[in-house]
Amino acid sequence: MSWQAVPRILWHYARTRNRRFETREELLAWQDSRVKRFLAEIVPRSPYYREQHRELGIANWKDWPTIDKAEMMGNFDRLNTVGIRAEEAFRVALEAERSRDFAPMLGPITVGLSSGTSGNRGLFLVSPPERHRWAGAMLARLLPGSILGHHRVAFFLRANSNLYETVGSSRIQFEFFDLLDAVETHVERLNRLQPTVLIGPPSLLRLLAEDPGLAIAPLKVVSVAEVLDPLDERCLQERFGGIIHQVYQCTEGFLAVTCSHGTLHLNEDLVAFQREVLDAESRKFVPILTDFSRTTQPIIRYRLNDILTERADACPCGSVMTALERIEGRSDDLFYFPARDGSRLRPVFPDFIRRAIMEAAPEALEYRVCQHSESVIEVSLRLPAGSGDAEGRVSGRLPGESGDVEDRVATRFCRLADDLGGIPPTITFTPYEAHRSDRKLRRVERRFTP
Ligand SMILES: [Zn+2]
Repeated sequence: MSWQAVPRILWHYARTRNRRFETREELLAWQDSRVKRFLAEIVPRSPYYREQHRELGIANWKDWPTIDKAEMMGNFDRLNTVGIRAEEAFRVALEAERSRDFAPMLGPITVGLSSGTSGNRGLFLVSPPERHRWAGAMLARLLPGSILGHHRVAFFLRANSNLYETVGSSRIQFEFFDLLDAVETHVERLNRLQPTVLIGPPSLLRLLAEDPGLAIAPLKVVSVAEVLDPLDERCLQERFGGIIHQVYQCTEGFLAVTCSHGTLHLNEDLVAFQREVLDAESRKFVPILTDFSRTTQPIIRYRLNDILTERADACPCGSVMTALERIEGRSDDLFYFPARDGSRLRPVFPDFIRRAIMEAAPEALEYRVCQHSESVIEVSLRLPAGSGDAEGRVSGRLPGESGDVEDRVATRFCRLADDLGGIPPTITFTPYEAHRSDRKLRRVERRFTP
């Protein structure tokens, strides 16, 4: 990291920590003026947005057409403000990923690649000032205590990028762990480092938590990159104690983080969130983002493929930023049941599936549920030793307890379909297979297009 970066990161750190809004109205008014100022500066530099906003004008930014990932990637060359072509960016990012030398740069610009299937990967571009702002905001929201204290941060990532190497100084030791390394290697390094902050995807944190050789006591454990399933949260709490924190960020920005009460709050001082309401009663929505700090690859009225649930009541911490009950996961993982009356398919939120499993199989250590078609759902459960076969797996129809679990799960899904006016699906049970740590774990996954 260059030494000039330190004061800049500290400045953003202080600004994020010290910015306070007394009321929600104050926050929204400030946000609106920030967005307008940002658009006035950025739109002339982005050929794509220059054309988009021609008729509507900046004052009406809230009514601009939304864009999604496909639209953004399809117009990548004209959308970014630094004239980088997608082809060139992909080449650099893929090369870095293959060689794992972790320095995908085009001039001063960091190139990142989101995970996903090969045809569906997103590119993102970040400039040094954006990196410093990100690092400052991240440290402000994540570090327990002051930035002037000593911290040792262990960060597990799918692929490193310069974005993360920005953070690091003599007081803050920042160690990167490659998810592809063996768990024994991780445990050995962690025991040596004795991190004060442990950050990683929950599936990896679970592996660490279950390793008898791990001897660390981090002050803060932070789940990133995957949905934190209540089952994993419970297990991590048992091992590490206290609140399991979450950072909700993706290539589209630093979106939400937990407060001292363990509630996720949207980072509305960095990003403006509008909503596409999915279900008003259960407060579920798809967020539409306008990130007024991203200038290289503007994120304006961007529809994220995620479902969020707002909290019903205010968070006791007193923050005026929207409090979330949970991040449900991707809208692609909504299940669908055929309607009993032959009308449209009934959507089933991932959260309903999670709850069904937790209620019907509370003893499960891990699970996966995949919907393969409108009528077939596959369930895999990892049960404590003794309740399935030797590995604690349920396979096929076994006598005794595992059969009971299967009956309970099947019955619970029937009831769920009934409650939603849908036709109960056929449930098949398969052995639980250990998850590959270089892949994103999705415990609830839909594998067909309705
Ligand atoms: Zn709070």
